Amino acid sequence: MPSRPDTVEDPGILQAIREYGLEGRTLYLPQMPYGGTYLLAAAIRSIGFDAWPTTDSDERTLDLGARMTSGDECYPQKITLGDFLRIIEDEGKENVAFLMPSANGPCRFGQYLHLVRAKFDELGYGEVPIISITSNDGYSSIGEYSMDLVRTAWRAVLAQDILMKLLLKTRPYEREKGSTDRIYHESLVDVGEAISLMGVKHRERMDAVEAAMLRARERFRALPADYDASRPLIGVVGEIFCRHNTFSNFDLIRVVEEQGGECWLSDIGEWVWYTDDEQRRRLTEQGKRLGKDNTIRYIKSVIMRRDEHRLYAPFAEDFIGYEEPHDVKDVLEMSKPYLPYTGALGEMVLSSGKTIYMYEKGADGIIDISPFTCMNGIVVEAVYPSLSKDLEDMPIRVFYFDGTQGDLERDVGIFIELARTYQRRKTKVRRYPACFGA
Ligand code: SF4
Repeated sequence: MPSRPDTVEDPGILQAIREYGLEGRTLYLPQMPYGGTYLLAAAIRSIGFDAWPTTDSDERTLDLGARMTSGDECYPQKITLGDFLRIIEDEGKENVAFLMPSANGPCRFGQYLHLVRAKFDELGYGEVPIISITSNDGYSSIGEYSMDLVRTAWRAVLAQDILMKLLLKTRPYEREKGSTDRIYHESLVDVGEAISLMGVKHRERMDAVEAAMLRARERFRALPADYDASRPLIGVVGEIFCRHNTFSNFDLIRVVEEQGGECWLSDIGEWVWYTDDEQRRRLTEQGKRLGKDNTIRYIKSVIMRRDEHRLYAPFAEDFIGYEEPHDVKDVLEMSKPYLPYTGALGEMVLSSGKTIYMYEKGADGIIDISPFTCMNGIVVEAVYPSLSKDLEDMPIRVFYFDGTQGDLERDVGIFIELARTYQRRKTKVRRYPACFGA
């Protein structure tokens, strides 16, 4: 792994590192998913912070997390806390810092940060910094010391989403087991280097990222694979941490692939656009539609959309049949008859809306990955039966996770059989990219 950036000369950045208490420390970010966090950490390194994804979770994660929680907390809280404590034990409290996002939402996510801080203090780790960013202000708080980071981080999110799509649409069909994972990781490193470039202008960085993404595209296109249109396409929605963190969900997507399915995972960009839309709605409700904050938000969203178009455009042919919605509002509107976004909030709205969106695109079933006792999972599970009925009885199933699991292979196998039956009778036509020989 490349070492700490040692060429930080910008006085503003040096001051920010001091202000956050990060001198001599590595900043760790929770894996969500690993590739996305790898690229987000690269974005943070571009301004001189020494940021990396948390090391892989293991039994100690669960053990330490369980020891410091009561059992009432959400499963992602237990995993992130357990990972942070494991890393402190391994690397020493004087060498590490952590990034913990936060939000004021309908659920307990806003409490994670406070609980981690309280537990650190209780254990004598009071000096370990925890940096927080929040979706309440559209993440603008990171921009206080570097607006540059917000834009680079957005490009990291886009690159992650594209690479993840390439991985999932290729891996089930690979001829040589492990070959897709290999080129995915090669691409992550290549794109990560472009994202983490220091002291370059936005345009230069974007050129470098785009070039790395084109190299990734060629790697994936050239990979020997036998595409097969009879393999059912399973949309994957649910709670954002659990559906992306493969340790939490026992690598459910890989199990689906082994049982004969292909997955289309709801992306991270969707959540970023959702928080942007939430901020717009909040400001409008407060009578600040024409105010400064909403104007800044709007300008930011125009720039974000431009970057999005530029990075996605070269993949138009690869993603035929896997196109993302033009606007998150499309998903929110689809959810409206079941869970109106003006009343319900968070993943529950996105999960129900995206279920309908994926049905329209010809998916053969939907899996919702949620932590056990997750409020979002419980609410949306209540509307899935009506949704399924209205979507020609498309199979929809919630898989809950809490660190213990029954027979996942058997349950997924049964689900895939239901998806195959549905695939034979569905009326929605799925489009395929040329690699399927369509
Ligand atoms: S979405 Fe679910 S798991 Fe995540 S914080 Fe909210 S209630 Fe907990």
